[in-house]
Amino acid sequence: MDFKIPPRVEGLRQDIGTFLEERAGDVERAVIKRGMANCLPELAELRGEVKARGWWCPQLPESHGGMGLSLSEFALVSEVIGRSLVGHYVFNCQAPDAGNMEILIEFGNERQQREFLAPVARGDARSCFSMTERDRPGSNPVWMETRAERDGDEFVINGQKWFTTAADGASFAIVMAITDPEAPPHRRASQIIVPCDTPGFRIVRNVPVVGHVGGDHDSHAEVAYEDCRVPVANLLGEQGAGFAIAQSRLGPGRIHHCMRWLGICARSFELLCRRAAERELAPGDPLGTRQIVQAWIAECRARIEAARWMVLHAAWKIEHEGAKAARVEVSMIKYFVADVLSEVIDRAIQVHGAAGLTDATPLASFYQGERAARIYDGPDEVHKMVVARQVLRQYGVDTRR
Ligand SMILES: Cc1cc2nc3c(=O)[nH]c(=O)nc-3n(C[C@H](O)[C@H](O)[C@H](O)COP(=O)(O)OP(=O)(O)OC[C@H]3O[C@@H](n4cnc5c(N)ncnc54)[C@H](O)[C@@H]3O)c2cc1C
Repeated sequence: MDFKIPPRVEGLRQDIGTFLEERAGDVERAVIKRGMANCLPELAELRGEVKARGWWCPQLPESHGGMGLSLSEFALVSEVIGRSLVGHYVFNCQAPDAGNMEILIEFGNERQQREFLAPVARGDARSCFSMTERDRPGSNPVWMETRAERDGDEFVINGQKWFTTAADGASFAIVMAITDPEAPPHRRASQIIVPCDTPGFRIVRNVPVVGHVGGDHDSHAEVAYEDCRVPVANLLGEQGAGFAIAQSRLGPGRIHHCMRWLGICARSFELLCRRAAERELAPGDPLGTRQIVQAWIAECRARIEAARWMVLHAAWKIEHEGAKAARVEVSMIKYFVADVLSEVIDRAIQVHGAAGLTDATPLASFYQGERAARIYDGPDEVHKMVVARQVLRQYGVDTRR
């Protein structure tokens, strides 16, 4: 096992870190104050700078306009990018576009790649992924209501989705819908590309998340599909392969999320330590002299470090043994890192006192935006179940229900 970051990747991390510190601070503050939808020109300018420096789409192969980093290399870069609230968007590796680009590369045909992938990879368009339904449990996605019925050479889609992240302003959605209701549960659904200007595709509203409605990429929409007709040619991969495709995007996707979260942890931890050093309870008596604050610092430091190695190991395992072999590692990092993230942000806010809840730092935005980490990409409890079942099987327990 090599614990050293390759010099090329370390150099990249330092350059990107410096760039974000020097160039992204103003835009980040503007986004916190005015919302992302009102800062698109500033964000576009930053995106242009990223492109000019050759850092565009670090996660994509060079043949699709990216940097061609391996999963482990991208994980290390993603950590640095994640320090900034606007980082992933500015490098065009933000969810859900990164996942959509990945599955379009793997499962999209030549026309689908030209019409849908290429504009997103260039940064000229955005996309969304529409799977979760309000009235059905997202943690059991085989129980789904949305239907896509075949009518000649078209699918007619009907259903109600919500939490379709970034649907506001997207040019297309990849929707998960039941196409084969009589098939075995995991063969019932397909993924279908739906241009957002298709009649019958309707954004009902952006759902407020922890009181924040947001807009543009920073939003989560309720979407109605009402007799929404798209060509059968918009089917992604095979009919009935919707879950298999969704599964394939989840392994690398969780590495992306976890390393972004660790970037947030690193930034929050630095803010925590600086505040502990600078905030005086009395003249010459900084907060950091209190043992409870020292304990928080020690615990956060160790947990961030542990989380980081777990994610890098999971990325290594995906690369060397495949996503299937790394299933348990990927589930472990999902809940472990989400928990570390919640704790570190919370401690950092606590050390800031009331100021931690204001817009003086990005902490309140991290808190508002990242509580969801324990819910999306599969709630933590589902991932704990995956891990526990695998462990208990070794003790002869039949955990199937
Ligand atoms: C900010 C955000 C962005 C999102 N973006 C998208 C997106 O772009 N596209 C999309 O399709 N979806 C998206 N989602 C939806 C997300 O994937 C679902 O919320 C998630 O899968 C959980 O589904 P649910 O909300 O229906 O909760 P439910 O399935 O109803 O579960 C509720 C709770 O029950 C508990 N639970 C569930 N299963 C078990 C179990 N087996 N054992 C014990 N406890 C259990 C968990 O605590 C869970 O939180 C997003 C969600 C959020 C919050």
